[in-house]
Amino acid sequence: MDNVVSLGIGEPGFVTPWHIREAAIFALEKGKTGYTSNFGLLKLRRAISRYVTETFEVEYDPNTEILVTVGVSEALDIALRAIIDPGDEILYHEPCYVSYQPSVTLAHGVAKAIETRPEHNFALRAEDIAAAITPRSKAIMLNFPTNPTGATLTGAEVEKIARVCIENDLLVLTDEIYSELTFTGQHHSIVAVPGMRERTIFLHGFSKAFAMTGFRIGYACAPPALIEAMLRVHQYSMLCASIIAQEAAIEALDHGRDDIAMMREQYRLRRNFIVKSFNEIGLKCHLPVGSFYSFPDIRSTGLSSREFSVQLLEQQRVAMVPGNAFGPSGEGHVRASFCSSMTDIEKAMERTAQFVKSL
Ligand code: PLP
Repeated sequence: MDNVVSLGIGEPGFVTPWHIREAAIFALEKGKTGYTSNFGLLKLRRAISRYVTETFEVEYDPNTEILVTVGVSEALDIALRAIIDPGDEILYHEPCYVSYQPSVTLAHGVAKAIETRPEHNFALRAEDIAAAITPRSKAIMLNFPTNPTGATLTGAEVEKIARVCIENDLLVLTDEIYSELTFTGQHHSIVAVPGMRERTIFLHGFSKAFAMTGFRIGYACAPPALIEAMLRVHQYSMLCASIIAQEAAIEALDHGRDDIAMMREQYRLRRNFIVKSFNEIGLKCHLPVGSFYSFPDIRSTGLSSREFSVQLLEQQRVAMVPGNAFGPSGEGHVRASFCSSMTDIEKAMERTAQFVKSL
């Protein structure tokens, strides 16, 4: 379709900062075009170790506890393939990122959703995890701030969840891809709770905070036994991440912190605008504390999330994602990213207002 304004995809509305692109160009100019260690460049692993220690207050040994991957996508996939025996249950909170359930299934696990609800601002409650655990439960996947709801957890909530994981001997895969995009308060990662580091696979990357989606670069941090198991899958399937992306990632970690702050401030302004606009239109929308997604409630229109999205696209040329793409509990909502430019967001909201008025 022509003339569509898309709030569909979760892609930063910024190109990668110039000094990071320049580092990639410079790597090529210097003839860095070969494979790296399966683990990734040691210089990058050292930079990751410093960054994770400073940002998340957990230390990892760059020699044995950090693996550079092709985005969080690969890190997640190889973590699941390394830990799952056929039939193991992997718990996850829903609505969630579209890859979680299929990635578990592809690794011969059983994906078990724990519903989160709008009345709790989509926070995950420890008691709901405890109720979902069975003798086959091996691990839980966490993603805070959450795609698509923007939910975050308080320090107290994280500690309660950690207690349930320890009591039930669960491994934790924590996908931290939106952690830098937390707008109010502090981000609390479960890995920093005492007793959690040894049972956690910490997954992070450069796509969102550094606007580097196309570089396809991420990493996993975990105790040596887990990294070793993941490395076996990684070395035979991927070999290593691109050296050019790895060189760019070093520059991002060493000199890119101000870029994150600048982009986060822009996203915060866009978030405030989009949430206000949805509420004015009559679509109830909670304020997402993190990520760059709004998740308005469209039940007042009487349409399903799919009907809403298709009709909005066909009649007003605005793209949003139906909430049930993120699992059945996302029904009744749509996901509208606010990482696009302010001009696009304004245009999209004007058109959405007209669409809702016409119903
Ligand atoms: N995890 C979550 C929660 C995401 O939303 C996304 C992309 O949208 C990814 C992982 C993929 O990240 P990457 O680009 O690092 O593979």
